[in-house]
Amino acid sequence: SNVFFRPIEKINAVIESYPKGIAGFKRYLEVIDTEPDIADKPDAVEVGTLRGDISFSKVSFGYEDDRKVLEDISLSVNAGETIAFVGPSGAGKTTICSLLPRFYDVTGGAISIDGIDIRDMKLSSLRKQIGIVQQDVFLFSGTIRENIAYGKLDAELPEIWQAARQARLEELINSLPKGMDTVIGERGVKLSGGQKQRLAIARMFLKNPPILILDEATSALDTETEAAIQQSLADLSVGRTTLVIAHRLTTIKNADRIVVVSEDGISEEGRHEELVNAGGTYSRLYQAQYNA
Ligand code: ATP
Repeated sequence: SNVFFRPIEKINAVIESYPKGIAGFKRYLEVIDTEPDIADKPDAVEVGTLRGDISFSKVSFGYEDDRKVLEDISLSVNAGETIAFVGPSGAGKTTICSLLPRFYDVTGGAISIDGIDIRDMKLSSLRKQIGIVQQDVFLFSGTIRENIAYGKLDAELPEIWQAARQARLEELINSLPKGMDTVIGERGVKLSGGQKQRLAIARMFLKNPPILILDEATSALDTETEAAIQQSLADLSVGRTTLVIAHRLTTIKNADRIVVVSEDGISEEGRHEELVNAGGTYSRLYQAQYNA
């Protein structure tokens, strides 16, 4: 299950009724921002741009009071590092990642970024530091420009173009009759799955957060598109702390570290070759999944 759908659903519900244009949309976002599900402490601090050193310290969490999903999880991620979470379905990979933007608060232990407990940060300033890319790209009916600018609502055209180039969308945009001002969505040009992914990646280049969470697609695009998207995501993750909920072997193999999440917590950590040679859970998962 994907807990990231919750906030997205909330935004989607709002989009249904937003007045035309980005200005109206922006007002709604501000309304959402003032009513978070999790409240700021009275003395919460506004954090500037963080480096992105993340620490989970004896973290416990359950969606319901009587059932813990995570118990005593400890994990340090260095700024700029790419971590791939792997493990059986339901083990808690998505849950670990959803605690970082505080979609839920831990019930035990603490999570800190650059040594600051995330519960001591203003929620809005915490979430500015984190970009989430998931398989279901959220687009609204509007122009390409507006859809990319969703990553940074006050962005100027040159930086929107810059992000489009970084996500390798330039050629597509230039081939469209109205370029950046082409309307996409129900009343406009339909984008392919791969093009939507690129648009989401362009948003993230524009938002430029030090921390990224990538929820990898389980259902495949065609192989060529897949490889190209993987390359763009790799470009995006350079210099950012990246947590990947991983399903793809290429991502897993190229990660700085693989973290195996099992029913009883983190069971193994290391690079691909190390874990294969160790002959533990990862090597069994790897063999079962890829027949290697
Ligand atoms: P998958 O690979 O299938 O996405 P996962 O390792 O990411 O699995 P989670 O989605 O984190 O696992 O789920 C961990 C546990 O928490 C599962 O038992 C799941 O049923 C439960 N869970 C997840 N989301 C919720 C929720 N919103 N409410 C209640 N329980 C949930």
